[in-house]
Amino acid sequence: MGLMICEALLCILVFFAGACVFSFLNVIVYRVPKKMSFIKGRSVCPACSHDLGAADLIPIFSYIFLKGKCRYCSGKIGVRDTLTEAAGGAAALFCALYYGYYGGDYVKAVLIFAFAGVLTVVALMDIDTMEIADGCSVAIVVLAVAGMFLMREITIGQRLIGMICISVPMLLLAIVIPGAFGGGDIKLMAAGGLFLGGRMVLASAVFGILLGGGYGIYLLASKKKGRKEQFAFGPFLCAGMILGLLWGNQMIDWYLGILI
Ligand SMILES: [Zn+2]
Repeated sequence: MGLMICEALLCILVFFAGACVFSFLNVIVYRVPKKMSFIKGRSVCPACSHDLGAADLIPIFSYIFLKGKCRYCSGKIGVRDTLTEAAGGAAALFCALYYGYYGGDYVKAVLIFAFAGVLTVVALMDIDTMEIADGCSVAIVVLAVAGMFLMREITIGQRLIGMICISVPMLLLAIVIPGAFGGGDIKLMAAGGLFLGGRMVLASAVFGILLGGGYGIYLLASKKKGRKEQFAFGPFLCAGMILGLLWGNQMIDWYLGILI
């Protein structure tokens, strides 16, 4: 019984630590496109610019206790940051349990949690600015290089294939159809492929294109955007990579099983 309480507390701690990390990522998403320092400077309310105190900055809890309103100006606080923090907590708990506790590989758990963190920054920044910062793709390359030593089940050969098998076709497509993909999308998939390896990034691209294509069709059908207008594709590529990471290998085995 004592052990169960201890494990439950540990789970809560891991969840909260993940929420804190993603809370910091929210700061990066907000400040980097504005060329602000994300280490120096206090967080302020976007509505009234009042400095926020420690009690306003506790991930998830502050939003719940303040009922989604700024305590100084009563302005509404967007729910996105809090949902991102909750997603970070869930990601940390999932990685710790799935890859760490049950998989016996806590290093892999940390690497994959970090990968999910970078993808979250990419997705949110792309929604805000329609651009994917090169720094994010560089961060994924750093994780991929770490993976060459720490996640050896994906070989260096598979990683190199992964780096080009999606990014090069995307590049060719972007040359033939200008505006099909942004340069940031292509660099993201090259970096992602280096982390995931050929099989998983292939599945990721299929998931990403299905999700993004589905959303594009929805926009056209609901006449929210015209045929020529653009929407951020990065979030779908990021979601595709998470799905590819979780189910890519199974999906490709299943697909090959149907063919052969
Ligand atoms: Zn305020």
